[in-house]
Amino acid sequence: MIFEKLNEYGHEQIVYARDESVGLRAIIAIHSTVRGPALGGSRFWNYASEEDALFDVLRLSRGMTLKNAAAGLDLGGGKAVIIGDPQKLKSRAFLNSYGRFIDSLNGKYYTAEDVNISAADVAMINETTKFVVGTPEVSGDPAPFTARGVYMGMKAGAKVVFDTDSLEGKTIAVQGVGSVGYKLCEFLKKEGAKIIVSDINSASVQKAVQELGATAVSPEEIIASECDIFAPCAMGAVLNTSNISILKCKLIAGAANNVLLDIGTGDKLAEMGILYLPDYIVNAGGVINCGMEATGGHDPDVVTKKVDEIYATTEKIIELAKQSKTAIHRAADEYALSQVK
Ligand code: NAD
Repeated sequence: MIFEKLNEYGHEQIVYARDESVGLRAIIAIHSTVRGPALGGSRFWNYASEEDALFDVLRLSRGMTLKNAAAGLDLGGGKAVIIGDPQKLKSRAFLNSYGRFIDSLNGKYYTAEDVNISAADVAMINETTKFVVGTPEVSGDPAPFTARGVYMGMKAGAKVVFDTDSLEGKTIAVQGVGSVGYKLCEFLKKEGAKIIVSDINSASVQKAVQELGATAVSPEEIIASECDIFAPCAMGAVLNTSNISILKCKLIAGAANNVLLDIGTGDKLAEMGILYLPDYIVNAGGVINCGMEATGGHDPDVVTKKVDEIYATTEKIIELAKQSKTAIHRAADEYALSQVK
């Protein structure tokens, strides 16, 4: 059953890591090393089952191949999941042990931050392997670069939808004002956009209202809010064929990974005339930043330039979709796969 799945997704290698002395159980999925070493973060999650963990890591690692290829990075795609409760399990010994497993792959896979793996955790993984990026001393927090890339992609999308890439006066609904969402709001405020926000964390909402003059709505209301652009920056799978009929926006551009529940949702958005900018095209800023740490010579100015190229990549994907008369999420996948060489 596992090899069947690997065939379906096209993975190169799966590594199961176990160290009972610290309670470590992890799955490292190397999807592709065609363009270079596989890069993707480590997610620490209390999965309901081992099957759920495997499904997640297979999907996420394939997504990293597409993201890294579309961004033109000399990197392949991989991802790791650590199974269990981070609150109970995480310790220096645990992260050091995990680092030794990453190290045993000899640079075929580089890991980084992801859900429940912070920059401080990365520093501890780094004590036993050099094959980890996003370290505080080098590339650091990816969120500002991710936000910048989303902002650039959004502008490129706005040029097509509203005939101008200026976001001045546009109403933009941002779902989730965490590390990336808040930073995105700062870019939007600077450009004179009207910002609507929602978050399940009321302190984050209050900060956006007080410091950026945003209007707050409840998490239930945000998707249906009257806006020009919807920016999902919280969780994945927030849009599906049942809830997209309530959208009022004309453009969707956000940081959250796997925003669409399934491919059919993307098809329906295209039918509705809503331009959905594929998440892995516009949210690549973070991986562009830490990817440069993996390939060597990290330079924030070069990273910023490369992140700004997300504008041109977005334009290219929109054009490809137009030319091939396919929905944009399909055109993006085709383009990204064509770059895996
Ligand atoms: P974060 O945890 O800092 O922020 C997420 C925010 O969403 C939090 O404030 C949380 O309270 C809020 N939230 C959760 N559920 C919500 C809901 N139902 N409604 C409204 N708000 C809700 O995470 P982040 O680093 O800002 O990342 C945001 C998203 O972007 C994630 O999906 C992440 O996988 C993706 N992403 C992040 C980066 C990065 O550089 N951090 C890079 C690529 C993709």
